[in-house]
Amino acid sequence: MSYGRVYNFSAGPSMLPEPVLERAAAEMLNYQGSGMSVMEMSHRSKVYESIIEGVEAKLRKVMNIPDNYRVLFLQGGATGQFAAIPMNLMVNRKKADYILTGQFSTKASKEAAKYGEVHIAASSKDKTFSYIPRQDALDLSPDADYVYICHNNTIYGSTWDYLPETGDIPLVADVSSSILSAPIDVSRFGLLYAGAQKNMGPAGVTVVIVREDLMGKADPHTPDVWNYQLMSDNGSMLNTPPTYGIYMIGLVLDWVLEMGGTEGMEKINREKAAILYDYIDSSSLFSNPVEKISRSIMNVTFVTGDPDKDADFVKKATAAGFLNVKGHRSVGGMRASIYNAMPRQGIVDLVEFMKKYEKE
Ligand SMILES: *Cc1c(COP(=O)(O)O)cnc(C)c1O
Repeated sequence: MSYGRVYNFSAGPSMLPEPVLERAAAEMLNYQGSGMSVMEMSHRSKVYESIIEGVEAKLRKVMNIPDNYRVLFLQGGATGQFAAIPMNLMVNRKKADYILTGQFSTKASKEAAKYGEVHIAASSKDKTFSYIPRQDALDLSPDADYVYICHNNTIYGSTWDYLPETGDIPLVADVSSSILSAPIDVSRFGLLYAGAQKNMGPAGVTVVIVREDLMGKADPHTPDVWNYQLMSDNGSMLNTPPTYGIYMIGLVLDWVLEMGGTEGMEKINREKAAILYDYIDSSSLFSNPVEKISRSIMNVTFVTGDPDKDADFVKKATAAGFLNVKGHRSVGGMRASIYNAMPRQGIVDLVEFMKKYEKE
């Protein structure tokens, strides 16, 4: 780490790779001879057109997105998609299945219930979202417009270790905190989406990857800026897109490619997560509440079992330069978010600190 930067374990917005920030800084005042920064450009200019087209092409390459999927760059965050998804997709039978594995899928289901019938096909709330329901526990409706999951549960630190079989019914997934962390088979989904601020760039851009045949049937009350067909027809430029954030995603994608693409990232991420989980499993002070097969490699939660001790740990860790290791306000304990940009050394150092704390 240079520039006096710290290991920031925030769940989002979170760390960006240093080389990405350096390149953004170098290109800040005069982007490739254009005489202006990317922030100052017209989104209709030739130079910006080449940026946004380049970002889409890179995302298609990195995620191996099939040709019959459209890529949209929208605003309104992941939370905006909680509404946009039912507005665009809950339009045939006006019914959808939601699988609840944490706070974000629960919120999404509540938002969707404003637009149609939500059926909870499974929930792991009975054990404080510490596991992912197995396929045989899913009560899927034969006539749902889609099945909704949150792929990685940022708050509880769990992740889908398999993808549910939904037959002909499109699978929709919130991949906000897992996108670009490992390969994902886009063809298994009807729609994937992610807020950028976890693993892709700054807050303000939401990437939606949607299968072509699912578009074009939106509820007439859908705002134009969230109408997938309209946005797709207009190259995500029905109005001014979040221009700078999209450019930053492009820089992050270049970096991911240099790291060996999503395959390379997964290898590094698994090694990083194992350093932390192996120590936690061997510790007599800290423990992780998540069922082993569904542990997240992006968000690692841990507790001492004593809220006062947790608070003491967070305080001392912060003072030692490990920032934002406090668990989400709704669950307490600790959480280390170790997205793509968190260097391996940050985790090695955190584990050293935890060991020292345990001894003391
Ligand atoms: C952070 C997060 C959200 C919320 O994102 P916003 O952009 O703040 O709306 C939703 N889902 C998941 C999985 C997240 O990690």
